[in-house]
Amino acid sequence: MGKIMIVGCGGVGSVAVHKCCQNSDAFSEVVIASRTLSKCDALKEKLQGTTKTKITTAQVDADDTAVLTELIRKEKPDAVLNLALPYQDLLIMEACLAAGVHYIDTANYEPEDTAKFEYKWQWEYRERFEKAGLTALLGSGFDPGVTGVFSAYALKHYFDEINYIDILDCNAGDNGYPFATNFNPEINIREVSANGSYWEDGHWVETKPMEIKRTYNFPEIGKRDMYLLHHEEIESLALNIPGIKRIRFFMTFSESYLTHLKCLENVGMTSIEPVTYKGQEIIPLQFLKTLLPDPASLGPRTKGKTNIGCIFIGKKDGKEKKLYIYNTCDHQECYKEVGSQAVAYTTGVPAMIGAMLVMNGTWRKPGVFNVEEFDPDPFMDALNKWGLPWKISENPDLVD
Ligand code: NDP
Repeated sequence: MGKIMIVGCGGVGSVAVHKCCQNSDAFSEVVIASRTLSKCDALKEKLQGTTKTKITTAQVDADDTAVLTELIRKEKPDAVLNLALPYQDLLIMEACLAAGVHYIDTANYEPEDTAKFEYKWQWEYRERFEKAGLTALLGSGFDPGVTGVFSAYALKHYFDEINYIDILDCNAGDNGYPFATNFNPEINIREVSANGSYWEDGHWVETKPMEIKRTYNFPEIGKRDMYLLHHEEIESLALNIPGIKRIRFFMTFSESYLTHLKCLENVGMTSIEPVTYKGQEIIPLQFLKTLLPDPASLGPRTKGKTNIGCIFIGKKDGKEKKLYIYNTCDHQECYKEVGSQAVAYTTGVPAMIGAMLVMNGTWRKPGVFNVEEFDPDPFMDALNKWGLPWKISENPDLVD
């Protein structure tokens, strides 16, 4: 039994609050704290009366560490689950250190003025969390998150050594819009318009955006085009999986999405460089975000499934072995259960599970850790229990 403060009440935050409320044995109390109080209150209104979990709300701007620290000190949660934006990661980690509570997030820090996410800023907090006797669990979403847990699980139970990992993220959902992003548009577009990269033989290989394309026949979905992207779990898995030779990350995109994105890029709408419009400075990408559908509103419209998983190639008892661990998730089923589409669901569920394991002590040690550094078994069991069951194929198609 514990009390959690969830910072951020968007698409992912809403799912995490729903799942904490389903899991009242682990979460006796939830404080929903976000920039726009009305969103927190609306969620509280929807859920109270359906759960034994006590729900309270608070307005907070996490960019102000002193104010957030004061709120944490007043509320005294056991842990803070950061589901705001990656820009706030370091500030929320600071507040957790100042107030003496554990920290969990789903996306690594990215400075607002440079579209480059890396773990180095958050890993620099290792000593401070160690000394404070606190746990910071980084990247407890699906990718990063479950993909790291799948990797640790494959290594623990199926391989002596993993040499190759391909992480495949397929969203075959259709939301009916010609162009909409399934999570925060600003973060999403920054990610997909950046150069791609993968890890090979101890170093990064950089590619142009969308330069490497493959087609894969996804279980329960069928054939889809996918493109190589840079993704944050590559950085931590390259350090934490011994014997690794190559890690790649692929995500599917439809022709329509890519054509719109190219056009928006060509006219400068995805830029994060400020421009002056009628005497006011605006950032084109932030303006574009105001025009695009709110991802939290896509739930009722999105149909189809996601399939996210990892293909591993390595050795067991001297023989080459391959394995595919994946989850499929149905957008409409998620909507029925928690009022959100599957991209928010597949992130919010592992965020709740990571928080639960830190809070109940199963995944608790002083310092800053990525998910694959802990025993994967309790997390894998919890995925089956809390709505993201996984499957294993021992003879998958490989990506060339
Ligand atoms: P949304 O934009 O839907 O929600 C973000 C929420 O954070 C909003 O409620 C917003 O408030 C709030 N917020 C933003 N800035 C602040 C601030 N300074 N102080 C307090 N609250 C703030 O984003 P998503 O829910 O789609 O994504 C949430 C996080 O999850 C992101 O970091 C994203 O990168 C990550 N993610 C991780 C994935 C994974 O698999 N690991 C996959 C998908 C997302 P307001 O309502 O006022 O705008």
